[in-house]
Amino acid sequence: MTGPGASRPLELARLAAEHLSAKGVADGRLDAELLLAHVLGVRRLDLYLQFERPLSEDEVASYREAIRRRSRREPLQYITGRAPFRELELAVDPRVLIPRPETEVLVQEALRHAREAVGDAGAELDALDIGTGSGAIAISLLVEGPFRRVVATDLSPGALEVAASNAAAAGVADGLQLRRGPGWEPIGDGERFDVIVTNPPYVLESERATLMPEVRDHEPAEALFAGADGLAVVREVLADARSHLRVGGLLAMEVGSGQARAVAGMAVTAGLDAPRVVADLTGRERIVLAARGRDTEPKVE
Ligand code: SAM
Ligand code: GLN
Repeated sequence: MTGPGASRPLELARLAAEHLSAKGVADGRLDAELLLAHVLGVRRLDLYLQFERPLSEDEVASYREAIRRRSRREPLQYITGRAPFRELELAVDPRVLIPRPETEVLVQEALRHAREAVGDAGAELDALDIGTGSGAIAISLLVEGPFRRVVATDLSPGALEVAASNAAAAGVADGLQLRRGPGWEPIGDGERFDVIVTNPPYVLESERATLMPEVRDHEPAEALFAGADGLAVVREVLADARSHLRVGGLLAMEVGSGQARAVAGMAVTAGLDAPRVVADLTGRERIVLAARGRDTEPKVE
């Protein structure tokens, strides 16, 4: 990064992009520009529109460090510390999975159901998010939907800290109850929800070697892997989902590519009605929706 004009922003980004691409980063140019914008505290567009001044030595040093981290395949979002999700700009760090675009579709489906359930009555609903990570799902439900309360759980204390600060930043800390523990453990026997949403870990242990280094070497393992068939946590959720749903309530689950049909079948076995499979933005079947129908026989609970 030396030579005439090399401290000019776009020239620096061009050199950095070549370096990143050589290290196997998929979108080297884009990431080089986003990291430069981050270091300079401007929008990416501003690099083109208004940023002609040479960088200071400190700025060049910060940029070099950011590019060094990215070249070691650290995810862009852990370096900038931010990840967009629906209407939110979430803080993220290695304690949490970086929220994905398919999870935005999961939230969309949960919101659609909630709005229909509320109808004109103006009631407010209760939701549960199992494995909340950064809080992406739970906080979006509170910000966008008709929810008076969202309970969000995670195994990981670090994740719950991140979710708490994201909820505060979004102004919805009051509506969010964070609880630590696996599966249903943090949920009382008699607690019922109108919507249960989860993006559980669902990657097969055997797929570990096939993951991108950004995911495999940097994101939390407990957010990714779920046993030999990837369905260990899905099973845990399904085991008690029905008993924690109100009648007419919805379970909305994200699953891995190729798992949706099997999981829909498992939902029926678990006593849920009419599962529906929804595709993500790239056309892959990634979301399973299943409702708790009316009991066919009167049942005392
Ligand atoms: N909900 C976030 C999102 O969609 O971006 C994070 C999803 S991440 C795939 C799964 C999360 O579930 C991780 O934060 C992980 O710590 C947590 N987790 C893993 N196993 C769990 C279990 N048995 N019970 C509760 N949470 C679990
Ligand atoms: N979507 C993540 C991946 O592509 C996996 C997240 C999960 O297991 N829920 O690796």
